[in-house]
Amino acid sequence: MKKALHETDEVFIFQKSGKASIWDFKAEEVIEAINDSSQENNPVILNLRKWIVRYLNEGITDELLDDLNSKIQNNRYSKYVIPADLTGSVSDLPKNAYIAQYDTALNPESYAADDFSKLLTSGEFKRLKICKLDDCDNIFLGPPQSKWCSKPCGSLFRVRTKRRRDSQ
Ligand SMILES: [Zn+2]
Repeated sequence: MKKALHETDEVFIFQKSGKASIWDFKAEEVIEAINDSSQENNPVILNLRKWIVRYLNEGITDELLDDLNSKIQNNRYSKYVIPADLTGSVSDLPKNAYIAQYDTALNPESYAADDFSKLLTSGEFKRLKICKLDDCDNIFLGPPQSKWCSKPCGSLFRVRTKRRRDSQ
């Protein structure tokens, strides 16, 4: 029998003020938040952006993982085993679930590193890119050959390249 996809996936749950929620936000949502200028002063989002830019420049190096581990090692998780039907899993095996204890004040750095670590290991970042237009620097998800976050950025890039060529 073919093994179901994601059978070994783990479930992350966070608990805040006694209420447990499944951690299920997607790379799309994270990227939307870090490109959103109204989130500029949100320390968690700022730290997440730092991790993502570093990942884009450096890839998954030993140094990146060392630094990441040093930021998340004090985050507290309780482990549970939960029935498959609670997780929406295709497998009927019970799953490991890790419940993050967010009630103990987590600093923004640890919180961001925790989020980044889950996205990094989920494979959600495979299509991650940074816009090649100098003053844009938006982060986006796109196919391997894509260079710009949007059509306007692509057009502007071409116009500027042409202008540079023409002025030489
Ligand atoms: Zn752009």
